[in-house]
Amino acid sequence: MPAYDIYVRCIDCGGEHPLLMKIFLADGPGRTQSIAEWFHGRSVPPQVLALRRHSALCLKTGKKFVLEEDDKVFLVPLGPDKAKPNTYDR
Ligand SMILES: [Zn+2]
Repeated sequence: MPAYDIYVRCIDCGGEHPLLMKIFLADGPGRTQSIAEWFHGRSVPPQVLALRRHSALCLKTGKKFVLEEDDKVFLVPLGPDKAKPNTYDR
């Protein structure tokens, strides 16, 4: 089953931060997409719904924020080649 990294668009600094969580989706996107885009008009699986209870930490401001907006939470497919996107936060 394909694995996905979770990234969050930060409200505080506008950057994207990894949630350092992985989820598995049988029917997930083949490229990076927000939860809002991918599950539009479809039922959202429980492992994705569970993300809303998590909070992410902004490493720039030190603030925590809750993942309640589906268009700010992104599924990043983990390919078999483990190619990492060049989106390291500095
Ligand atoms: Zn931030």
